[in-house]
Amino acid sequence: MHYHQIIVGQGLAGSLLAYQLMKLNQQVLVVDNGKVNSSSRIAAGMYTPISGKRMVKSWMVDTLYPELISTYKDLENLLGTSFLNDINIQMSFASIKEQNDFYSALNDKIKPYVITETTPHQGLNAPFGAVEITHSGWLNTLVFLDAFKKYLSNKNSFIQDEFDYDALSYRDNKWHYKNHSANSMVFCQGYQNKNNPYFKHIPVIDNKGDVFKIKTAALNNQKIYKRGAYAVNLFDDVFKVGATYKWDNDNTTPTPQGYEELKDKTDVLIHGNYEVLEHVVGIRPTTKDRRPILGKHEQEHNMYLFNGLGSKGVLIAPYFSKIMADFILNNTVIDKEISTNRF
Ligand SMILES: Cc1cc2nc3c(=O)[nH]c(=O)nc-3n(C[C@H](O)[C@H](O)[C@H](O)COP(=O)(O)OP(=O)(O)OC[C@H]3O[C@@H](n4cnc5c(N)ncnc54)[C@H](O)[C@@H]3O)c2cc1C
Repeated sequence: MHYHQIIVGQGLAGSLLAYQLMKLNQQVLVVDNGKVNSSSRIAAGMYTPISGKRMVKSWMVDTLYPELISTYKDLENLLGTSFLNDINIQMSFASIKEQNDFYSALNDKIKPYVITETTPHQGLNAPFGAVEITHSGWLNTLVFLDAFKKYLSNKNSFIQDEFDYDALSYRDNKWHYKNHSANSMVFCQGYQNKNNPYFKHIPVIDNKGDVFKIKTAALNNQKIYKRGAYAVNLFDDVFKVGATYKWDNDNTTPTPQGYEELKDKTDVLIHGNYEVLEHVVGIRPTTKDRRPILGKHEQEHNMYLFNGLGSKGVLIAPYFSKIMADFILNNTVIDKEISTNRF
């Protein structure tokens, strides 16, 4: 069967791109190996307009946030299920110094996103007080990705398989892959890009993260709770708690060290008892300059890359998948800041 595009990878990058292309009447085929510990499936799915210890406004958030809301809401309607939770983050300070630093950094740029009058939830450890961050929330990535996979499957647009590079060839002005063909190939493989013979020179840097699933009666589903680590409510009294950050480590097997590090963070976050139900690990596809990577192969015909979503895939993917779709269909210019050409 002939498609407009074959997309490799059904994480946030591949899914959002497939969605944007389908909206533009493209017929896509998505190939994904179904690994349960892909970055998108492990992720807590949080988004926030303010990030980092120094509380700076996130890059392009005024553009990215409205696009996030409209895209995931449209997807909820299309897929007939809900996965977007646009709720505040209640964030407590780790020390008096952190509290002071926060208030002295509270400039006009970040004020619209902060509520300073808040009573910390009793299950959040907050000896130095707390604030609330608005325009934030979390995407239940598992629910979204499974619903979208089903949608693609119903349209004969999904294959669960390891992509075989040896089965790919270009002839008669199209790409051939097994018994399929396409005008274009797009690779959205997250950290596994390193195994791609066409794009392995693009520096996607591994950043490993541990996440727990815990059970606790101490917190609730009204807000995301954060103090260094964060907790989002999955259902009943089950929460996802994350995360750790380790550079240049592509081993997805959970380690006792990772467990201890996250346990320490969880102890600091939660005022109350909890039980760890699950410990999993994922690899973020990051870049040195913290910008996504969009581009086209320099020699191969109609071969593209969409990657580098880092630790903010939920916020970044909706807007940049639109840019990527436009680039593939209309050959628009990609800004150097986010282009493969910057490497
Ligand atoms: C612990 C942790 C916590 C995180 N928390 C957040 C958060 O709160 N908020 C946020 O926005 N982001 C978070 N992230 C980051 C987020 O997960 C990423 O930004 C995003 O999911 C990356 O999406 P992706 O589609 O590029 O990559 P991936 O999710 O890795 O998807 C790539 C897909 O391609 C498939 N694939 C690769 N190679 C092949 C092949 N050869 N054949 C077939 N299939 C292939 C993979 O199996 C996978 O399904 C977190 C990440 C981690 C690890």
